[in-house]
Amino acid sequence: MATSHKIRTFGDPVLRSKCPEIAEIDATIVKLAEDMIDTMYAYRGVGVAAPQVGVNKAMFVWDDGAGSGAHVMINPRLIETSGTWSYEEGCLSVPGMFFTIERPEHVVMEGLDLDGNGVRIEAGELRARILQHEFDHLQGNLLLTRLDDSTRKKAMRDLRNKQLADN
Ligand code: ZN
Repeated sequence: MATSHKIRTFGDPVLRSKCPEIAEIDATIVKLAEDMIDTMYAYRGVGVAAPQVGVNKAMFVWDDGAGSGAHVMINPRLIETSGTWSYEEGCLSVPGMFFTIERPEHVVMEGLDLDGNGVRIEAGELRARILQHEFDHLQGNLLLTRLDDSTRKKAMRDLRNKQLADN
């Protein structure tokens, strides 16, 4: 049975560490992937990276809602990017905040699926954005690192105030 986890939020150090590659795709990894998919749907997200459920491993899951269901990406590498596209972006780890962020419009990403087979995804627009956003999580980067200095400082202040208010 897959279990939905609590999503780690801004300020949790697990979100800031670079995730090592997964050497062996064993039952623990399969269970983790299933739990991450459960968590993604529980939070109505379009993607969840392992550090967001507190695990420092290079894996994310995503579902862009286009009908192809949930996908697992292990040890992803960003092979190619092209173009630029600005779009409003949010993150389950930075709840309730959205930012217009410019990113490459198209990407080619390679990695492994749960069976250890190589996967290669060529994607544009929303799907490309999800892949880049989740890839960033595995480098220890939240979407805040994509903001310019003054927008980021203001966002961090707002986040701290919000966290103080919530406690
Ligand atoms: Zn995120």
